[in-house]
Amino acid sequence: EQQAKELIWKKVKEHNIEFIRLIFTDIFGFAKNMTIHKDELDDAMNGKLMFDGSSIDGFARIEESDMYLKPDLTTFQVFPLRPNEKSVAHFFCDVYGTDGKPFMGCPRNTLKRVLKEAEEMGYQFNVGAEGEFFLFYRDEKGEPIFNIHDHAGYFDLSPIDKGEDARQDIILTMKKFGFHIEAAHHEVAPGQHEVDFKYGDALSIADKWMMFKMIVKNIANKHGLYASFIPKPFANQNGNAMHCNQSLQDKEGNNVFYDKQDPLELSKITKNYIGGLLKHAKGMAAITNPTINSYKRLIPGFEAPTNISWSRGNRSALIRIPHARGKRTRIELRNPDPTANPYLVFAVMLKAGLEVIKKGMTPPEEFDGDVTDVIENLPVIETERYPRDLHSALEYMRKDILVKEVMGEHAFTTYIEAKQLEADQFAREVHHWEIDQYLKKY
Ligand code: GLN
Ligand code: MG
Ligand code: MG
Ligand code: MG
Repeated sequence: EQQAKELIWKKVKEHNIEFIRLIFTDIFGFAKNMTIHKDELDDAMNGKLMFDGSSIDGFARIEESDMYLKPDLTTFQVFPLRPNEKSVAHFFCDVYGTDGKPFMGCPRNTLKRVLKEAEEMGYQFNVGAEGEFFLFYRDEKGEPIFNIHDHAGYFDLSPIDKGEDARQDIILTMKKFGFHIEAAHHEVAPGQHEVDFKYGDALSIADKWMMFKMIVKNIANKHGLYASFIPKPFANQNGNAMHCNQSLQDKEGNNVFYDKQDPLELSKITKNYIGGLLKHAKGMAAITNPTINSYKRLIPGFEAPTNISWSRGNRSALIRIPHARGKRTRIELRNPDPTANPYLVFAVMLKAGLEVIKKGMTPPEEFDGDVTDVIENLPVIETERYPRDLHSALEYMRKDILVKEVMGEHAFTTYIEAKQLEADQFAREVHHWEIDQYLKKY
């Protein structure tokens, strides 16, 4: 650790860094930051920096508001967005209580707890999260307006794809931050884009996802645009997902989801893991799809999942198994969207999978029919519908002991209370659709 600290000091001097951002994440997935001057760097690295957590959403209660920010030294990075004279660097931090223990309400700690459990079972949890977003115009004051930047579609080229410049700039910036970019393209909907970066261990990918969102927003800004991760801005177009590709790796670096002997080349562990994700899909819904708008995306006809099933090819299933095998064997959970807190999403997914691996439940059958057609025509096999709105998702969450155990009592209750308020506020509104439909009719 001493060596790590010295290395950080060396970089601070080398890059002429004056300010350092201490980034942490609240339970709703919003990045927060406390900027310190380099004079305080030693104190910070020793975990001595205190902050008042009482006004951070979902953090401490008033009576225990003093908290410590403990930087994860492995996350130190120089911020390449600023000119070199006054460089800024950052750390991702964990929140600790005055008792010296990791604070339960800190989502990064939450994920670390579940990762430790996996590690004790001999597994490293790998995740690859696909990033989708929309580019909107801004007005003269720089405020976003509900006016989409282009009208291109899936894999279109410029000049129809007007986002190419911004997207390339996003990628170049991500590369400076050490991202390995796998793919980037215009997505299906107008003004929608996707950038995929290489999978890795879940904690580093959750940090990277937070960085990714910041970079996308910053660079879009520079191009006079506004990047939004809103799940479903247009009723008749595809929405934004955060597909979570995931697998477990053993101590020797083997992917334990791969089994050459199996007809599907998927191990028993994979099937258990799938069983766990499906079993807790409803209870995790308010975590993976935490907004009112999230549920507008999860309807038939837009490549978004609607039913609790798994399949090799079908994209309307909650879980798809991409074709790759061997080291790249993975399952893709398709319901999460980018309004979710990546730390919490990864934590509950993993815990759900591990639970069934431990208990050895028999997995459900693969359902390869198009569940979309099944809903619209006559169902051949009944697969269960995913929660249709935030309110029902919260009802399932309240009953899911596993989710509660992962989050801890305090964060679990705070999360549900805040989200219930959001659902209730929406329910109280009278929407345009109602006036259009009912005013003249009744
Ligand atoms: N964006 C779509 C969704 O809402 C998926 C489309 C895709 O990535 N091929 O899930
Ligand atoms: Mg993709
Ligand atoms: Mg996509
Ligand atoms: Mg995908």
